[in-house]
Amino acid sequence: MAKLYFRYGAMGCGKSAQLLQTAYNYQERNLKACIMKPKLDTRKENKIYTRIGLEKEVDYLIEQDDDLWQIINDKFKNYNCILIDEAQFLQEKQVDALMQVAIYLDIPVICYGLRTDFLTNGFKGSTRLLQIAHSIEELKTICRCGKKAIYNVRYINGKVAVGGESILIDNKDNVKYVSMCPKCYYEETKKAIKKEEGMVY
Ligand SMILES: [Zn+2]
Repeated sequence: MAKLYFRYGAMGCGKSAQLLQTAYNYQERNLKACIMKPKLDTRKENKIYTRIGLEKEVDYLIEQDDDLWQIINDKFKNYNCILIDEAQFLQEKQVDALMQVAIYLDIPVICYGLRTDFLTNGFKGSTRLLQIAHSIEELKTICRCGKKAIYNVRYINGKVAVGGESILIDNKDNVKYVSMCPKCYYEETKKAIKKEEGMVY
């Protein structure tokens, strides 16, 4: 029976690259992988973009109120796998719908995403995935100090952000994210809080 998978990791751990590699593996065997992502991510709109230069157009851009069960049942039922990038931006009910797809349509669904935002709070989509996915796997990357990076520091114009909206896409307003280990993360944010006294963290 097919399963719902969640592969999570900090920024820059190669989630999108692994997604494209998985899509390629299917393609190589003459199987069809359907690539989707939530529309919220406007970085390259209808493309999966990776830091190592690989790009691929998605088969479907997910709207916030999309019924994913209905959409996959109507359009992608004959696919061998559903791959979802930026799964942290999914709605909770969409994650539940993906579980139904795995169980009742017998199509494996592999979701890639961040576990937490820049303030270490869980994203809706990833939190639901951590709660219900059959299989959860961490994709690892390293901090500047060499330890495993699990958090993401947000920089705006080169300064560490210690407050703000959970979702702010990089490349806009000079927004940049750097993945760090918990120790470096707290050191970096503590320094920033001291600089900006009065900021609520
Ligand atoms: Zn570190």
